[in-house]
Amino acid sequence: MTVSTSSGYVVFDKVEKTYDGRVLVVKSLDLTVARGEFLTMLGPSGSGKTTTLMMLAGFETATGGDIYLDGSKINHIPPHKRGLGMVFQNYALFPHMTIAENVAFPLRVRNINKADAEAKVRKALDMVQMSDLGGRKPAQLSGGQQQRIALARALVFEPKLLLMDEPLGALDKQLREHMQYEIKRLHETLGITVVYVTHDQSEALTMSDRIAVFNDGRIQQLATPDELYEKPQNSFVAQFIGENNQLRGIVKDISGGRARVEIGNSDVIEALAIQAESGKPTIVSVRPERVEIEPMSSDIAATGRIEEVIYLGDHIRIRMNVFGNSEFIVKVRNGSGRRGFAVGEEVKIGWSLQDCRALDV
Ligand code: ADP
Ligand code: MG
Repeated sequence: MTVSTSSGYVVFDKVEKTYDGRVLVVKSLDLTVARGEFLTMLGPSGSGKTTTLMMLAGFETATGGDIYLDGSKINHIPPHKRGLGMVFQNYALFPHMTIAENVAFPLRVRNINKADAEAKVRKALDMVQMSDLGGRKPAQLSGGQQQRIALARALVFEPKLLLMDEPLGALDKQLREHMQYEIKRLHETLGITVVYVTHDQSEALTMSDRIAVFNDGRIQQLATPDELYEKPQNSFVAQFIGENNQLRGIVKDISGGRARVEIGNSDVIEALAIQAESGKPTIVSVRPERVEIEPMSSDIAATGRIEEVIYLGDHIRIRMNVFGNSEFIVKVRNGSGRRGFAVGEEVKIGWSLQDCRALDV
């Protein structure tokens, strides 16, 4: 979907949070979520994702700034009046109630009449493909089924905004991936706005329209999945999303958006000057799959001494020493007629300028 920031459905305006009155765990956060968007907050543990989501849900109060929902300031609206659906990793179902009673719970709280409630519960159970199990108790369901019921319970009153905090964290890999597609499908068919929290980059890349990468209480970059991968704006994002080779050097000079970077003692390579300053240290970032071995032509040429070769079926992973960095990784697609690689061998390698970014240290 295309995202228009003018249609801000959720707006964080310079939002801050401190728990102890001293340390800001969320720092001057600006974030706009469009109506109908699937926005993910992605970042390492402790980076402020849950706190940010809890402020939107109303379970935590912002200690600075304002939060708007659909044009109205909601800072002081209690959670149950915000009309949001919520699913958390440990959002336990009520064990003594049946599945249908669990899903009906938000409707009972809202005084929906019995006939309407029954129809809505059926529809919500259908949505998560659990219509046959309404009579069971939670303990009779698997973890994945329980999480689907939690999702049905969050959707049953047709909220405009669905908040999810690591909802798939407790599931095994296969089920997690299956649920990622189900949630994405529900988002597409229902057209609701979703704000999703995860520390898992592949989950974020799979599901999201846009991703806000968090670190240390700040959004490091807000972009679509492919833009984050192709055009990381700083070293943290380059390192956190996907794999990345880092070559440390000093910027000699910058012109026309290109930096000349001295790596080691005498080698100088060119890189896009994304976050680089003349005379200052920089990290040059190159993705392992963008490096070619024995290229016909390339913007940047180097020599790599092969240190280790790992066969991974669909690709070969080669660790090399390049410009004195022995952790330089090159991924080669496996195919027929591929040449062999021997440890100790020296090979010519190269990559294009577009794949080479000079970033902050
Ligand atoms: P994330 O969800 O990205 O892991 P959190 O928002 O849970 O991050 O935490 C951000 C920071 O705030 C962490 O340093 C965490 O220890 C702290 N924190 C979170 N909740 C509380 C709380 N209720 N009281 C005090 N500190 C908290
Ligand atoms: Mg969290």
